[in-house]
Amino acid sequence: MRLVLLGPPGAGKGTQAEKLSAYLGVPRISTGDILRRNVTDNTPLGEKAKAYMDSGQLVPDDLVITMTERRLKEPDAKKGFILDGFPRNIAQAEALSKLTKLDAVVSLFLEPEDLIKRNTGRRVCPKDDTVYHILMNPPKKPGICDKCGTPLIIRADDREDVVRMIEEIFLRTIEALKA
Ligand code: AMP
Repeated sequence: MRLVLLGPPGAGKGTQAEKLSAYLGVPRISTGDILRRNVTDNTPLGEKAKAYMDSGQLVPDDLVITMTERRLKEPDAKKGFILDGFPRNIAQAEALSKLTKLDAVVSLFLEPEDLIKRNTGRRVCPKDDTVYHILMNPPKKPGICDKCGTPLIIRADDREDVVRMIEEIFLRTIEALKA
């Protein structure tokens, strides 16, 4: 099964992708997670991507497309994948269509104000990427990852002004993709 999940940040792509990945036995490929890991590990890609990510902008297409192409060629993606966070614009969608065939594209929709609530309450573990929400899915001990005890962080792109900007870009892209 080759699946793409589309949706603005906070719509629940990651959560649904994890569930589908376990159910279908194919990897979840999150471009955001791969990029964040590169930033944490200070790789050349991470160094280039960091400023874009912190300000909520898209990382340039050439970097993200090359990174995704490589990831899709890894052996575990041969039997399928769930793409979470890619494509995010038309150039990426075109690159993906040249690279592989898809079985389905699922687009998640939420009202804008619900998205703001979900994003600004999100807390993440910088070590193992576990995602919490202060109201909907709080950790047992406030501010601490249940799994590994690491202090949780607020992602730079979960600030309200950044979330609103990303949402607008997302909605414009979806309109352009439909056209
Ligand atoms: P996400 O975890 O999917 O919300 O992604 C976090 C950040 O990583 C985004 O705000 C972008 O800066 C960057 N990013 C993730 N996926 C892409 C992509 N497909 N194209 C460009 N930038 C991306």
